[in-house]
Amino acid sequence: MHRAGINENDVQPEDILCDYCQRAAWSLGDPCIEGHRGSIVCGSCLTQAFTDIVLGDKGEPVHWKCRMCLELRDQLSWHSKIDPEATICLRCIKQSATALEKSKHWEWSRPTGG
Ligand SMILES: [Zn+2]
Ligand SMILES: [Zn+2]
Repeated sequence: MHRAGINENDVQPEDILCDYCQRAAWSLGDPCIEGHRGSIVCGSCLTQAFTDIVLGDKGEPVHWKCRMCLELRDQLSWHSKIDPEATICLRCIKQSATALEKSKHWEWSRPTGG
């Protein structure tokens, strides 16, 4: 997401916030994956989501569209601790994890639960 009230034609790195923790993850040097319409999940939220949903099986069906793919997915989703409407579906968690691992730009690997 973009920080509120910025000039959309002149977006700075510190204006790019993770949708799930609302930190300026990009300018902090955290890995980031972009979804549709400028939604962002950072590496630490993705680690948390992967741990809870994929490893821990702690997801729950949600009533909001996935912030990353903008689809209402009938599957387990993870939601932000600070914004329950900011959800990410299982598919996007897996896709984002694969994309981050493949990216040469970031050092990130999925948690293994061990
Ligand atoms: Zn985050
Ligand atoms: Zn999704």
